[in-house]
Amino acid sequence: MNDAILVINSGSSSLKFAILSGRGNTVIVEGIAEGLGFDNGRLSIKFNDKKALIKLSPSDHKSALIGINEWLEQHAEIKSALVGVGHRVVHGGEFFSSSVIIDNTVIQTIHECTDLAPLHNPAHLKGIEVAQSLFPLLPQVAVFDTAFHQTLTETQYLYGIPLRLYRDHHVRKYGFHGTSYRYISQKLGEIKPESLHQGVLVAHLGNGASVCAIANGKATDTSMGLTPLDGLIMGTRSGSIDPSLIAFISEKDQLSMSETMDVLNKKSGLLGISELSNDCRTLEEAMNTKNNKAQLALDMFASRTAKQLMSAATTLDTIDHLVFTGGIGENSQYIRHKVCEHLRAFNIKIDQTKNDSASKGDAALISDDNQALQVWIIPTNEEKMIALDTLNLITKN
Ligand code: AMP
Repeated sequence: MNDAILVINSGSSSLKFAILSGRGNTVIVEGIAEGLGFDNGRLSIKFNDKKALIKLSPSDHKSALIGINEWLEQHAEIKSALVGVGHRVVHGGEFFSSSVIIDNTVIQTIHECTDLAPLHNPAHLKGIEVAQSLFPLLPQVAVFDTAFHQTLTETQYLYGIPLRLYRDHHVRKYGFHGTSYRYISQKLGEIKPESLHQGVLVAHLGNGASVCAIANGKATDTSMGLTPLDGLIMGTRSGSIDPSLIAFISEKDQLSMSETMDVLNKKSGLLGISELSNDCRTLEEAMNTKNNKAQLALDMFASRTAKQLMSAATTLDTIDHLVFTGGIGENSQYIRHKVCEHLRAFNIKIDQTKNDSASKGDAALISDDNQALQVWIIPTNEEKMIALDTLNLITKN
């Protein structure tokens, strides 16, 4: 083991980590620090099928990374195998179209993108700063969620608002989940090499959800926008709405702008409609016991996903593959079935038996073998992509 990478995903109140080896194929240890910034900060570390729980005091990102480093000092063979650190960074604006080795200019540029991701980028910067001080000899790499979508043309990424807002404030569609889409595009390319020269639609359906159209391995359109609020109905996010609703809700419910945005980000989506949960599994269980609002939420989720897929498909010459990924895309037969039912006019069909019997965690073709448009389930693996980018950049340099 001489290619271990520490992958860090530093969020506003949580920090996920994993150490991967074997070109990202083996997860040696993984864990999550939660409740950061609150009084119940804790770090859990999963290693050899056992879980250790460590209370964090003070409850912040620095303590979390110190906790991870202390664990590594007790597992010297793993620490000594580390060759680099890869950081997930949500927003790279228009500055980054691929992953980069982190230096002072990169840090400054991520800082400049803070306006575009005020919750995420400062948390990433904290993670980078502490990781640099704890692992001063390891090169650090930034992998951006937005980078894959930098190939969109301006016809796709501009909004129908005064162009001045793009010039003055960088207002445009950026798109997210890019690391997942890049992984899926490459993985499908391994299974079906011709897909790298074809039109591919991907639905990344998780608690956050989006779709992406990919032609010849490059993104041509995606459903999230300036922020990850746009596009599909999600766990707690509204997705696309009539923009006038913001003023309307604010006036009717007497809410400030930030309270109104909170409604759209945290109280809408599956949770808002079902008035029960943001969790697809919980809603499917409720639907099976005849909870109508749970069924409505799931059916709206599927319908909007289908619409956004076809909207993104207008940037493709042909639709050759549709891939489902993310926690819901990989695991929910019901959602896959409903999405494809909405797409029947486009000749997108799945084989019900294959859809129902696809084994969890594996890539599977769920359309008929002889059908031209192939429908797939491919489990995503953003950590592996981050580890590989880190390894490749370190080797190159
Ligand atoms: P993610 O954000 O990609 O981790 O996905 C989380 C979502 O996947 C949640 O809404 C989960 O309920 C959903 N999910 C995970 N497993 C299943 C399952 N077996 N059936 C339906 N939904 C699932």
